[in-house]
Amino acid sequence: MGTFSGYRCTLCGAEYPPRQPIYTCPADGGNLNVLLDLRQVRRQLGADQLPLEGEPSLWRYLPLLPVDDPGGRGTALRLAGWTPVLEPVRLAAELGLRRLWVKDESRNPSASFKDRASAVLMARARQIKAEVVVTASTGNAGAALACMAAALGSKAVIFAPRQAPPAKVAQLLVFGATVLLVDGNYDDAIELSLQASTAFGWYCRNTGYNPFTAEGKKTAAFEIWDWRRRLSPDFELSQLKLFVPVGDGNIISGIHKGFKDLQALGWIAAPPQLIGVQAEGSAAIANAYLRQTEQIAPVQAHTIADSISVDLPRDGVRAVRAAVQTGGRYVLVSDAEILAGIAQLGKAGVFAEPAGAAAYAGLVKARREGWIGSDDPVLVLNTGSGLKDVRAAMQAVKEAPIIEPSLAALKRMIQSTNLHDTT
Ligand SMILES: *Cc1c(COP(=O)(O)O)cnc(C)c1O
Ligand SMILES: [Zn+2]
Repeated sequence: MGTFSGYRCTLCGAEYPPRQPIYTCPADGGNLNVLLDLRQVRRQLGADQLPLEGEPSLWRYLPLLPVDDPGGRGTALRLAGWTPVLEPVRLAAELGLRRLWVKDESRNPSASFKDRASAVLMARARQIKAEVVVTASTGNAGAALACMAAALGSKAVIFAPRQAPPAKVAQLLVFGATVLLVDGNYDDAIELSLQASTAFGWYCRNTGYNPFTAEGKKTAAFEIWDWRRRLSPDFELSQLKLFVPVGDGNIISGIHKGFKDLQALGWIAAPPQLIGVQAEGSAAIANAYLRQTEQIAPVQAHTIADSISVDLPRDGVRAVRAAVQTGGRYVLVSDAEILAGIAQLGKAGVFAEPAGAAAYAGLVKARREGWIGSDDPVLVLNTGSGLKDVRAAMQAVKEAPIIEPSLAALKRMIQSTNLHDTT
């Protein structure tokens, strides 16, 4: 797009031209924000013209993205984003909420939110003629990149921690990526991927490193804006409380960027309040928020929610700002609360992986602590499918009993147990 006009560093504000192949700020390592010429967009396009009709994907917002149309019609690349918003009325009643929605990102082609970033990143890769793309990933970013690379017939190399859930590793392999399981954690995988990218000139997708991932992720904000308009609701976007699970902090930063774009265009007055949810055992960003600092101190991450298990978040500064600048906040949830979240969402027909359920668990905690009111409109982001980590899912529910195949045995069982009590 002609609207892509360069980069600006989150920390020092230095600007860099769009032509430069660049990841983080060469001066201080700060995350770079992609700059767009939104005045040009506004001249060409009104708010009501933006969702490009006939595009059931994030490509309906192409004029607000820093890439050209990547082609790939009829492939998974054209199906990223445009995820459904569910209204789970029984969960709302349980929580004493009048208005509750769940945006279900498990419906993306590779079953997580990461498809948004990887789709836009592959568009960029195509534009700069990158032959090999590489990423470190706890699983989902890799699966998404492998999926989108497969769609375009490109080569992907993925470094995942050896302990990544098997279903995610299976996705990587089935999508035909070159997969290397790092004998270490996610942070070790990041280090190795950076070295590989430098040594071999591979185009690096790493979350919180490549500025284009946030540009893909911001499309969720566009969809929420679009959704609210179509709903003809009785609430302002700025009243909405948006619960987002946070690991590296790139999803919440990307969503914040999307709302900032809409605000700069004059299409919204103010963004929703962004509420970041972290696991207690992986809380580097929430810790910084609570200490009212932008200094992100690493932790030794340990949580069942592998997708948000990060020692040193790579997009922490922007993630802190996303909550501060929107009047949102951070909240911590335990692994037990995350598992309970899986079971609760499940009863509404949503199968979330632990990181996705963490967002819901954050809402449950908010209601218990009383800082979300019964009249507050709430949207929870389920970022990934429960099928990606069935080991964790099985910890959230009771094991199914085994029964001898006879009606007599069934009758005995019905007498001795409550068959409908699954959790
Ligand atoms: C990556 C991921 C997150 C967290 O996103 P960050 O950008 O790392 O904060 C949450 N949920 C799922 C399912 C993910 O894959
Ligand atoms: Zn800088």
